[in-house]
Amino acid sequence: MSKIIYDYQTCNDDNFMDRIRIKGLKVFAHHGVYDFETEKGQNFYVNADLFCDTRKAGKSDELSDSTNYGEVCEFIKVWMEKNTYKLLEAVAENLSKAILLKYDLIKHVRLEICKPEAPIQIPFENVSVEVKRGWTTVFLSAGSNMGDSDNILKGAIDMLNKDSDMKDVKASKFIVTKPYGGVDQDDFVNCAIRLDTLLDPETLLDRLHEIESFYKRERKIHWGPRTLDLDIVFFGKSVYESDRLIIPHVDMQNRAFVLEPLAELAPNFRHPILNKSVEELLNSL
Ligand code: ADP
Ligand code: MG
Repeated sequence: MSKIIYDYQTCNDDNFMDRIRIKGLKVFAHHGVYDFETEKGQNFYVNADLFCDTRKAGKSDELSDSTNYGEVCEFIKVWMEKNTYKLLEAVAENLSKAILLKYDLIKHVRLEICKPEAPIQIPFENVSVEVKRGWTTVFLSAGSNMGDSDNILKGAIDMLNKDSDMKDVKASKFIVTKPYGGVDQDDFVNCAIRLDTLLDPETLLDRLHEIESFYKRERKIHWGPRTLDLDIVFFGKSVYESDRLIIPHVDMQNRAFVLEPLAELAPNFRHPILNKSVEELLNSL
């Protein structure tokens, strides 16, 4: 059971953000499940909505303030030609990521890959796969009270920085805090981290667990000592729950060691359920 109940940042409301629209871009490429498809190739058509704020370019009338759609078309064409995937799903997944990594001003992309000459025995008009992908701003809480905590936190931030699915990683200052939850143990070093990610919440959690394991995190005592703890506090404005993940973090509003460094990075960020800003939550502790 997992569901995204409400998500503001991925702009489910189509009017939320300006967009540049590319329709019916024709590319001859070699994607397909069958050998004859990858050998002979066929025509694909790409529809792309590039969500970005066009206001600056609208006012300045300068191309340098916008994303050059001619360049994006060329990029899509070359990318489609040089890669080969079996599935349209994989083409859409990987091409949307390539576009988002290449063009800084594009926050989200809606990509439809059409294959009107697909090998289907019944007459048909078109078949396509459409995805919507984009950057989400995420806030994490990090803590350590075993080993060289300062360097472990710095190392974790560095690993996030080097991950191609993350950008604009920014950490708060480190604070020393008393342990929480009644287990007798050493003081913690805590910080908050802000970043933009291309990942969905579950994959982000996996990625954080990989970083924890790199620092030999063992889950022995609940709320016990740990070399590294990385929690997702906010994932955009998403309210999300699955068997292993709850967003926003269920206990963040009760934890000074989460709220204090977070208030440095995002004092006015509003909790999507409690409807209070980080600063207000901190002040009401
Ligand atoms: P804690 O962070 O509460 O001290 P753990 O790091 O051991 O304890 O987390 C236990 C589990 O909590 C994780 O394995 C994860 O599946 C789950 N979890 C639920 N919500 C979140 C969240 N927002 N961020 C991180 N982990 C979460
Ligand atoms: Mg944790």
